[in-house]
Amino acid sequence: MFDPIKFKKSFPLFSLEENRSLVYLDNAATTQTPQCVIDRIVDFYLRENGNANRASHRLARTATAMMEGVRQQVADFLGAASKSEIVFTSGATAGINLLASGLTSRLNTGDEVLLSNAEHHANLVPWQEAAKAQALQLVFCNHQLGDIKDKITSKTKIISVLAASNVLGKKHSLRLFKEIKQDYPDVILILDASQIIGHGLINLQDNFCDFLVCSAHKFYGPTGIGILYGRYEQLLKVRPSKFGGEMIQKVSQYSSSYTDAPYIFEAGTSSLAAIAGLGACITYLATMDLVAIAEHENQLTNYLHEKLFELINIYTELTLLTSADSNIGIAAIASSQCSMADIGFWLDEMDVAVRVGDHCAQPLLSALGVESILRVSIAAYNTNKDIDDLCQYLQEFLNENRASTKKIQELTNHKKSHTFINREELLASKSWKDRYKIILMSGKSVPKKNHMRADKNLVAGCESKLWITFAKEVIRNEVCYFFTVDSDSNIVKGLANLILCQVNGMTKEEIKAVDFETYFHELGLLRHLSESRVNGVVSMLQHIRSC
Ligand code: PMP
Repeated sequence: MFDPIKFKKSFPLFSLEENRSLVYLDNAATTQTPQCVIDRIVDFYLRENGNANRASHRLARTATAMMEGVRQQVADFLGAASKSEIVFTSGATAGINLLASGLTSRLNTGDEVLLSNAEHHANLVPWQEAAKAQALQLVFCNHQLGDIKDKITSKTKIISVLAASNVLGKKHSLRLFKEIKQDYPDVILILDASQIIGHGLINLQDNFCDFLVCSAHKFYGPTGIGILYGRYEQLLKVRPSKFGGEMIQKVSQYSSSYTDAPYIFEAGTSSLAAIAGLGACITYLATMDLVAIAEHENQLTNYLHEKLFELINIYTELTLLTSADSNIGIAAIASSQCSMADIGFWLDEMDVAVRVGDHCAQPLLSALGVESILRVSIAAYNTNKDIDDLCQYLQEFLNENRASTKKIQELTNHKKSHTFINREELLASKSWKDRYKIILMSGKSVPKKNHMRADKNLVAGCESKLWITFAKEVIRNEVCYFFTVDSDSNIVKGLANLILCQVNGMTKEEIKAVDFETYFHELGLLRHLSESRVNGVVSMLQHIRSC
């Protein structure tokens, strides 16, 4: 039986005082790091810090042996035929870039690369660049891969698709890829496996792909290290795109010859401490029952969806885009009525870590017809309690959101504007939650202004989108400024209102003289707003002052 609570104890971040109430549900972005991986990284720097492959002294020999040992561990972990099939990269993105430039240079004009419309930008933009450089054609199948076989033509040379979606969690059947490999042996099949490693076992001997990429930080390993697997005869077809030390055989002034795969793809010094950490991570996972972990994650995914179904039955303003079926542990929520950014802010203030936005999958969001998605992603250390907490805070937000909509409606009916925040009301409110509600309500009363939503009005440095425009008016012989805001987040609009109610109608000099620090301090906001929100407020202020 897998015990998630015992497993969680291996992750020191969770036992820090500051993280006692943290509910970490952003594992599809990055998983936390177990103590053994942290220890191994420290140990590498403490005892083994030499440069690999420059083996003229003891430390360098130790580092080289470590690197090759981890390469073998990775090969065994994934079921590769040999360690020569394993290239260390800085992550999945680097792996795909290497393949997109290295596999396409010999293709002909009009040859096709087949992708799905659910690809992470990491598995799209490098192919766009390669297509531009080589006059290739990009072809897209749908996000469920239902029509992938129909899209294969005699011109298809490469298929590069994700094994599981980082937005919808849907895990595609490896059998489908195996069938494609059998039916189209000459088409190169690349899998972006970023979201499946660590969520169950895979065995590359099952012949479902030619290349596979992933990043260690998504399965409890360190950041800055990734794996590119390539079937050896296929790896030989890849042209290197980074040149320098470590990948050469002989160098003269005007030309060089190169070494073999995998080293030909590892120019320069690799992230050796991260490789050591990856080794520790795989050793650690090997002590775990990965099948039992996958069962636990399945149970959690089911529970997450059950609870969210219950919620959306009551709060129909939310739409659940995912189901628990063949899902690696992701729930995706969208809404046309409430701001996803506001939910993200609210949950963040409750110390629930989720992700809101386009998840580096803008074409997928367009295909789904949504602008922003709230993504909840689990890992093996999560429990049902985390999901209960998430749902409770989500429900609190939704109640608040409904209450403020109703109040605004009433005020509008009585022709009262509530655009600007009443400072006295804000000061009188006892808890930060009450203040938050006032800000939310103020923001909600600012109507959406599509005409403002242009890049030229976008304020840089804000977590959510904020647009500001201004008009000048001469009042008593002085040029006074009037600002207007719009944002995809009501909280941001509410915070903007706090600033605007101070500055609108002032001259440039007067605006510069306003002491916002004291103002926000008096309102007790800086203490409660998280760092990213404070940074957003600072960016807003800078923008207004520089107009
Ligand atoms: N592909 C997918 C499916 C991902 O989820 C991610 C990370 N979110 C990447 C590629 C890129 O990974 P990295 O940033 O570690 O290179």
